[in-house]
Amino acid sequence: MSIVRESFYINGAWVTARSTETFAVTDSGTGELYATVPAGTVEEAALAVEAAAAAFPAWAQTSPKERADFLQRISEKLAERADDIALTIAHEVGMPLMLSKGIQLGLPTMTFADNAQRAMEFTWEEEVGNSILVREPAGVVVAITPWNYPLHQIANKVAAALAAGCTVVLKPSEVAPINAFQLTEIIDEVGLPRGVFNMLTGAGPVVGEALVAHPKVDMISFTGSTRAGKRVMELAARDVKRVSLELGGKSANLILEDADFSRAIGDGVFKCYLNSGQTCSALTRMLVPRSRLAEAEEIAAAAAAGLAPADPVTGSSLLGPLVSVAQVERVRDYIRSGLDEGARLVCGGVEAPDGLEKGHYVAPTVFSDVRNDMRIAREEIFGPVLSIIPYDTEEEAIAIANDSTYGLAGGVWAGSDEKALEVARKLRTGQVEINGGAFNVVAPFGGYKQSGIGRELGQYGFEEFLEVKAIQHR
Ligand code: NAD
Repeated sequence: MSIVRESFYINGAWVTARSTETFAVTDSGTGELYATVPAGTVEEAALAVEAAAAAFPAWAQTSPKERADFLQRISEKLAERADDIALTIAHEVGMPLMLSKGIQLGLPTMTFADNAQRAMEFTWEEEVGNSILVREPAGVVVAITPWNYPLHQIANKVAAALAAGCTVVLKPSEVAPINAFQLTEIIDEVGLPRGVFNMLTGAGPVVGEALVAHPKVDMISFTGSTRAGKRVMELAARDVKRVSLELGGKSANLILEDADFSRAIGDGVFKCYLNSGQTCSALTRMLVPRSRLAEAEEIAAAAAAGLAPADPVTGSSLLGPLVSVAQVERVRDYIRSGLDEGARLVCGGVEAPDGLEKGHYVAPTVFSDVRNDMRIAREEIFGPVLSIIPYDTEEEAIAIANDSTYGLAGGVWAGSDEKALEVARKLRTGQVEINGGAFNVVAPFGGYKQSGIGRELGQYGFEEFLEVKAIQHR
């Protein structure tokens, strides 16, 4: 029995969708139908914006404490429903259940609580010379999100926007939307004033564009592909709306000569394959000294062999399927292009992994002798495909890492943290982890170059949703 959703959340109530058109959501592990959600219309998008615009003046005037209390309750209810929602995401995205619970649920739960705290502790006003600087909410925010870490990406926007005093229309991805309906149930239960939060599903070019273009919208916070991000920016430019964009990446992991190869490469393979490689900050280009290429390949192949994919719900592997058949096709096309352009296949390939003909599985794949001008080194694959690129000198490695239209993340492994830090400072990316440094949920996340504009998470992510007003006095 698949899940059927037929309503949107607009102006504080669940309202039946007007169109009978729907999106089918597949179960990543089995390939079967998991759910259907309605396709919104341009008219419904306008209703949601009108509701958010009507709710804005009163919500903007609430005290930070009042807003923080709502956010804290949302965080608590997310924690209560963690098993349930993590299971949803394991089905619709395909991330193995144990990782899904820690990452896909754990991060948003923390982000709602963190923004509650921030609203309370923030310096809303300060004096500079003869000015009072007042921080005010940006207004009506449209949040458009992708499917890969769906609830995390929603929380990064919705929690910070609500904490800042903005009202929100959320359009989650139509590919993995059920978690957004579950969050909306929670938001409904905590009793936010009507119109403060609205949610509808729909096609990007229809509902997404209608929301972005609506004259009553003040800001668009978008996470997704660079292609769609460019379109959002174009539409927003017509009214000079604020945009914050979290887009793609093609991040490099620099393994320096004196690094601990077995740790560095094992960790690097896992970071490339996390969520089946469907991670915008995945370390997909591994840069290794040419003199130690064979050793690196051997360790990478062994690490890949230890990550045989399995069903995300019933299996015990850390690697699951991809989100959709379309994604599997796309990834296999990239694997073919790697072979055509002369990269050397170390393991994996275009064949489905043994025994997994149903569901959306791709074999963990490692290419070596990759040149940085090949498509597999330049374009975001969004699958479990690692490109090992040899280099001769440290300067060359840094140049290769920075030779990308993207600049989202990166990694450096060296014999000492000091050395790794020195190289990290030379990378043109929004995040860098050195010697396996862990993800930090309150560190700003976002990209240089075509990886985006602005930052999410922590203080920087919160302040994205604020305007500043200077009031001069005598
Ligand atoms: P996508 O761009 O296809 O879709 C993302 C969202 O945008 C969806 O809700 C979609 O309906 C909507 N959309 C599509 N076209 C639109 C348009 N013309 N106008 C308005 N909205 C539109 O991306 P996806 O396939 O869902 O997600 C994968 C992409 O997201 C990858 O490129 C990945 O790197 C990127 N991503 C970036 C980050 C980050 O923080 N930098 C995080 C996760 C994913």
